[in-house]
Amino acid sequence: MTTGTSVTTATAPLVELDDVSKYYGNIRALEGVSLEVRAGEITCVLGDNGAGKSTLIKIVAGLHRHDAGTFRIEGEEVALANPRDALDRGIATVYQDLAVVPLMPVWRNFFLGSEPTKGKGPLKRLDAGLMRTTTREALLRMGIDLRDVDQPIGTLSGGERQCVAIARAVHFGAKVLVLDEPTAALGVKQSGVVLKYVAAARDQGLGVVLITHNPHHAHLVGDRFVLLKRGVMAGSHTKDSVTLDELTRQMAGGSELEDLRHELERPSAT
Ligand code: ATP
Repeated sequence: MTTGTSVTTATAPLVELDDVSKYYGNIRALEGVSLEVRAGEITCVLGDNGAGKSTLIKIVAGLHRHDAGTFRIEGEEVALANPRDALDRGIATVYQDLAVVPLMPVWRNFFLGSEPTKGKGPLKRLDAGLMRTTTREALLRMGIDLRDVDQPIGTLSGGERQCVAIARAVHFGAKVLVLDEPTAALGVKQSGVVLKYVAAARDQGLGVVLITHNPHHAHLVGDRFVLLKRGVMAGSHTKDSVTLDELTRQMAGGSELEDLRHELERPSAT
């Protein structure tokens, strides 16, 4: 295992996992995983299929409890009861398959579940005007210039939808933003746009957890990197302790890839 230099500052990390494990029956989904997420920083969690990335998200998002180790939020040890609990503590999770209502306008989706109202008693109704302008302003603050917040969210590209979700989490006061493979289904250009807004969330002082299997995307924006392999940590680095090549090599499995290359080599013609 490779261990990067640890960064020490006086304040406690926003989120800290220390030697955390999670088992499903006798399946080891995570074992001995440690990471920290600090305000204004991006912690990348890299891993292949089955590495335990989703399990890690579920623990941080309050969907599952860890079985061993310590989970701290701003220095306080926690065992989150449910996703609402995580949200109340400022942890917002943006899943890859965003829960949106495709036919509803962008602004309606932006406020889904937290709609402001106006009027009282029987005259109480949704404040559409406020939602429309607030959505437009919140998007612009992040540098997102959508043509029209009235268009159904289903007409946006996958990348644009991710950006709206990021702006939404920032607007509603998240301290920690967990992003579940936000660039997995996107092309190069759209991935770049999404990463730009991930960096914008960081610049607004949020701590970001970026789950990805793409070392290039991770290295572009990450401050810390945790590599998972079959549920255990295969590496932990800070930006200045690892190069893109090294990160890519570790993700690709290094020697495993070399063995595969030998296996796939054509037999030389005789
Ligand atoms: P992928 O990128 O393929 O989604 P992942 O890195 O997110 O993979 P996890 O989904 O966290 O990995 O899974 C880690 C391990 O735990 C896998 O071996 C998986 O089969 C197992 N696992 C995950 N959820 C459950 C569950 N509810 N019950 C039993 N085993 C599970």
